[in-house]
Amino acid sequence: MIRLRNIQRRYVSDEVETTALHGIDLNVDAGEFVAIMGPSGCGKSTLLNVLGAIDRPTGGNYLFGDQDLAALGETGLARFRGETLGFVFQSFNLIDELTIAENVELGLAYRRKAGDRRGRVAMALDKVGIAHRARHYPHQLSGGQQQRAAIARAIVGAPKLILADEPTGNLDTENGAQVMNILTGLNSEGATIVMVTHSPSDADIATRRIDMLDGRIVASVTRAL
Ligand code: ADP
Ligand code: ADP
Repeated sequence: MIRLRNIQRRYVSDEVETTALHGIDLNVDAGEFVAIMGPSGCGKSTLLNVLGAIDRPTGGNYLFGDQDLAALGETGLARFRGETLGFVFQSFNLIDELTIAENVELGLAYRRKAGDRRGRVAMALDKVGIAHRARHYPHQLSGGQQQRAAIARAIVGAPKLILADEPTGNLDTENGAQVMNILTGLNSEGATIVMVTHSPSDADIATRRIDMLDGRIVASVTRAL
């Protein structure tokens, strides 16, 4: 599904150059659940942002299926993100002024042919176990419920790839475990997931663990199933 070849990301600010990614080679197959670990500053967020087409690499190639992302302009990249990807963030990123159902419906913004939008929203909320919260506002939900709403928003458009940046980072153990259960369930139904995490136990739940150090992948271990 994904082929990264020799991906580089250099930043220059105030004439100081930082290389966040030093030539990343990575393939991700459909159906994998990949956990990315490594110390702060090693390039995890940058790699996730490149995978999510939020950030353009300064070198190398990114193929998604047979689409070369370097060939897309800003509009094409926005459409690619909206049609193909689902994002889950550490801080949930729900919109306070919208109900949970309206927040989830945002995940269909790029799906013009989505058909029964309400039905799809209801199904996504049901899948993450918060159907009864559809008409509530984010501040009326616990952190764990807000993250489940964010997962519903990420999956409502049936994305090819889910990208999660420390999805349990702001949650207590119990709510974190619930979120990991949901991600595991989605993966066993066929969803492809790439997740950045600081939690070794969350990484153990994934089907592959990648370790990064100083902008490089230093280990990749696929779990025996
Ligand atoms: P984390 O360690 O949780 O990944 P960081 O605090 O390192 O988060 O980074 C948060 C965001 O700030 C990232 O998206 C990154 O692009 C940006 N960032 C990190 N370091 C710098 C920097 N030196 N200058 C500008 N932006 C930065
Ligand atoms: P991680 O997510 O593993 O904490 P990041 O990908 O956020 O790491 O950052 C990798 C490196 O790139 C760090 O040295 C960080 O300071 C630097 N960096 C990230 N974003 C920026 C930016 N926008 N400008 C300058 N440096 C950045």
